[in-house]
Amino acid sequence: MLKEQKTLSLKDFENTTKLSIKDRATAFYEYYLYNKRQQYSNYRIVSKLGSGAEIPLIDPYNNEEKNCISFVSNDYLGFTKHPKIISACKNALDIFGTGAGSSPLTGGQNILHTKLESKIANLFQKEDAITYTSGYAANSGTLLALLQNEDLAILDMGVHTSVLEGCMQTNKKYFLHNDVVSLERILKQSQKKFRNIVLIVDGVYSQDGDIAPLDKICKLSKEYGAFLIVDDAHGLGVVGDKGKGVLDLFNCYDQVDMITGTFSKSLASVGGYVAANKEIINLLKFFSASNIFSAAATPHAVSCVLKAIELLDEEPEWNIKLKDNIKYFKQGLDTLNIDYGKSQSAVFPIMIRDEEKTKNIGRELFKNGIYANPILYPAVSRKQTRIRMSILATHSYKMLDKTLNILEYAMKNQKLL
Ligand code: PLP
Repeated sequence: MLKEQKTLSLKDFENTTKLSIKDRATAFYEYYLYNKRQQYSNYRIVSKLGSGAEIPLIDPYNNEEKNCISFVSNDYLGFTKHPKIISACKNALDIFGTGAGSSPLTGGQNILHTKLESKIANLFQKEDAITYTSGYAANSGTLLALLQNEDLAILDMGVHTSVLEGCMQTNKKYFLHNDVVSLERILKQSQKKFRNIVLIVDGVYSQDGDIAPLDKICKLSKEYGAFLIVDDAHGLGVVGDKGKGVLDLFNCYDQVDMITGTFSKSLASVGGYVAANKEIINLLKFFSASNIFSAAATPHAVSCVLKAIELLDEEPEWNIKLKDNIKYFKQGLDTLNIDYGKSQSAVFPIMIRDEEKTKNIGRELFKNGIYANPILYPAVSRKQTRIRMSILATHSYKMLDKTLNILEYAMKNQKLL
């Protein structure tokens, strides 16, 4: 590595053409240690008590316990610590044991998985659903099973890495983020050139927190005969009535062909899902490698999700509190004149637009007991670097006020306010 450590990014280590595996790892290790010395290493910090609004962490710079207000969790409704979910989980452990034992195809499916699939299908008004052990596997496995050489995937530039992986065996075109003019241009150009045109968007974007203009996207997909897939990982539990997600927000259940998502965010567990018509789901049950060659989810993880979905209806106060916190935080940022892009969800990108300042602010926040991830190149372009903050229903106004004060202080220090 000839470049100075300060000027490097993860991109420089993605494919080091001249370095062996060992030399690449050594070079990257040096870069990792450099970042640690600078106290820029706000990643992979270990929590002593799981996820939450305020949690004890192990400070990576001195190995001591450090209490932080946390904005890194996607447990938007705070359900990972909900007593009813914990009790459902314990119950399932007693009845079903700790593991599924094999893949869904070869006997790992139990009645909890089947119940969950029917609940998911119901939630999104689809005929059937299939579950996976992660949202990542749901996206990548489904798309790899459906799309080949003859097809085209048209992707918003902001879709998740799991979608990109799922599109590795097919043709890809990207449209500008949330830009329906750019989308229509590509749809027009691509007519009659492919067996399937599949349009893939997120409901809520994970880095920007903005929402896809699904009303317009549904119209375009119908007009140009594209198969529409929506990944609502960050919308479920957050937007729509009682947090039912973007399909509810736009009331477009019947216009979206397939919905995908995760249980790892608002639904307090781990795993992913795809809901669609029964023929497509059946196809996936026999052709989606990440489902059929991987053990089914643990029964207790599934039972948490079952309870979490019930709580969306039974205890809407969590979604109401989350929306109230989002509004409160937004007002605070507006008052301070802090740029948070076009966020309309629980994800706030605090736009810094300068790599070094983003790292410095991340360090300052952590020093002052605020845990949030700096998002740097290559995750976003160098001009779009930001601090990503996720608001939870379990944050108190006092926590949010303290955070806004420290954020103001850190941004003033960097001459950004
Ligand atoms: N889709 C989006 C938009 C995401 O943000 C994520 C997770 O970060 C996933 C899918 C994958 O979800 P999981 O954590 O269940 O693998």
